[in-house]
Amino acid sequence: MLIPGEIPKKEPTIRVGIVIPKDEIKETHVLLSDTESYEMETDKKHYPSCKNQRKISILLKDNKLFLPDLELETSIVSFIPHLSNDASHITLPNMLAGRGFHWEKKITVKYWGKIEFFIIDGKLIVINELPLEQYLKCVSTSEMSAMCPPEFLKAQAIVARSWLLANIEQKHQNLGFDICNDDCCQRYQGINNCNSDTISIVNNTYGKVLIYKNNICDARYSKSCGGLTEKYENVWGGDPIPYLTSISDLNSKGVAYCDPEMIPEKSVKRYIGNVDENDKYFRWNYVVKQEELINTIQQTLQIRISKILELNPLDKGKSGRIIKLGVDYLNIKNEVQTLSINSEYEIRNILSKSFLFSSAFTVSKLNGDFLLEGKGWGHGVGLCQIGALGMAFSKKKVYDILSHYYPKSTIKTIYKV
Ligand SMILES: [Zn+2]
Ligand SMILES: [Zn+2]
Repeated sequence: MLIPGEIPKKEPTIRVGIVIPKDEIKETHVLLSDTESYEMETDKKHYPSCKNQRKISILLKDNKLFLPDLELETSIVSFIPHLSNDASHITLPNMLAGRGFHWEKKITVKYWGKIEFFIIDGKLIVINELPLEQYLKCVSTSEMSAMCPPEFLKAQAIVARSWLLANIEQKHQNLGFDICNDDCCQRYQGINNCNSDTISIVNNTYGKVLIYKNNICDARYSKSCGGLTEKYENVWGGDPIPYLTSISDLNSKGVAYCDPEMIPEKSVKRYIGNVDENDKYFRWNYVVKQEELINTIQQTLQIRISKILELNPLDKGKSGRIIKLGVDYLNIKNEVQTLSINSEYEIRNILSKSFLFSSAFTVSKLNGDFLLEGKGWGHGVGLCQIGALGMAFSKKKVYDILSHYYPKSTIKTIYKV
């Protein structure tokens, strides 16, 4: 595991949660790329091979793991590669991508490194442990696609490395891994989308991070700012962070780098992640149904509502992201009441079952429902991924891209091969 606050002097190994408790998986199997490359370890014993089995099932039952193919019962089992080469890999089916979002899917994923299965509170946890640089090759082509131009992929790798090593959020430490495999942390779909070109592009950024005042930058990023990025404190609270301030994403002609004028909506699908379905990231419309909103607010806030009257933006950040939303409603006695939703995250969570694209929107009424006309996708803080893509297509270099989105930061190599 990474040590919080420590800048590593050599490439660290990291632990990625690829099955987490809320996935509720009880049965899975691993498919080894070959029978010679892997050792196995259980709670009792180290096995120098996997006994010529390429496919091994793992079942969770009565708080134990069962491996019927090998007639084993254990509380923990790891599949460990003998050599750290790029050819050996383990395939796992039914991995969740887009966990909890409207683009949630099950995908089959190939992984480098070690895979470990264990149980916490009766739930199966699966962890992929691997060298950080191998992980970053996978993240760079999972967050966005391998079709992206080299300067974008380099920027994505440096930003993903910085965010991870800054290690500020530590969302999963109690479960024994540094980060999860999804949008909650960073999108990681194993080696599925890597090719020899993307691997060598990311190798060019080996050990490079963004630095501000001798610390690694907490380099947040999101899909599309919508034209203006958001200040850190408006999304997560706390003190302002100088390199996560609001910046204009316009080029010298006054067109936003994330505007469809730079990358037309019909071609954006080639460059975004393979599980993304949307193509309207810069401007979008969304109808919030009266009935659905009543249900969500009643469930989330435990209050009784007969009608929602108005949605009133009460406070906005620089990018237009609403950070406080007033909701006027009639209670079951038909009295007018007001409640407020007080964060960008909660606003997105309450207005859409599948998490609203962003909280930067205007509201108008539509036959008792509410029409939201919105901009951007995600929290809008730090690097705008579609904007960075637009910059790369405008022949900007990785340095230009990173200094545009993270003003006052510098690029530094913290470890070498
Ligand atoms: Zn996470
Ligand atoms: Zn942008």
